[in-house]
Amino acid sequence: MLVTCQICKKKIDQDSAYKRTIPSGANKYYCSEEEYLEHKSKHNLVSCQICKKKIDKMTAYRLFTAGKNQYFCNKQEYIEHQRYLEDKDTVGHLLEEIIDFPCPYGTIAQRLAKWYNPKGMNLLKNYLQDNKIEIGQALAKKSFANQSQKAAYFCGIAGNGLNHYQLPVEPIIKVAASSDNFADDDNDDVLLEPIKTPKRKKLQRRSMDELGDLF
Ligand SMILES: [Zn+2]
Ligand SMILES: [Zn+2]
Repeated sequence: MLVTCQICKKKIDQDSAYKRTIPSGANKYYCSEEEYLEHKSKHNLVSCQICKKKIDKMTAYRLFTAGKNQYFCNKQEYIEHQRYLEDKDTVGHLLEEIIDFPCPYGTIAQRLAKWYNPKGMNLLKNYLQDNKIEIGQALAKKSFANQSQKAAYFCGIAGNGLNHYQLPVEPIIKVAASSDNFADDDNDDVLLEPIKTPKRKKLQRRSMDELGDLF
């Protein structure tokens, strides 16, 4: 019987092929043991702990934890995943706070699956932190037969809210620019809003003119 070599894809005789049985119990065939060993040393592959992709052991990001090596595609992926786990943990606490115990995490993860990824989980965390009081009030107005029903109702609110939610943007304070332009100004308050202040005055003046036209 002919089998296919896992490396060079050549059709080879099963009886003379080099056979390896993988953990799942399936047999893998190779032209020879030499070919297998050479291939293995050249492509020293490991699985990424996060995305499960096969990666080269030599270039993978490696962590030695709990007495064994763990491999990841790269450091960035590892850091992002750690952040995801932290955010997910915080979300778990927020969900307990909002929905109470027992909290059907499975139902929620399924219904809000769109946000169960690094970026989405961060958004979900911020959204819940910002809206937990309002959502809690909305839930308090209703009566539910069980926690699953309550969670489903919550997911309706959260899913809708998340579609319109944006992460709060940090205000940009142009300290460097303003201290250059207003270095001689005695008034410290002006430094915070050097651009907005004159605009506001102009607007006020214009509206006064308009008022004058009316009378
Ligand atoms: Zn071969
Ligand atoms: Zn990966």
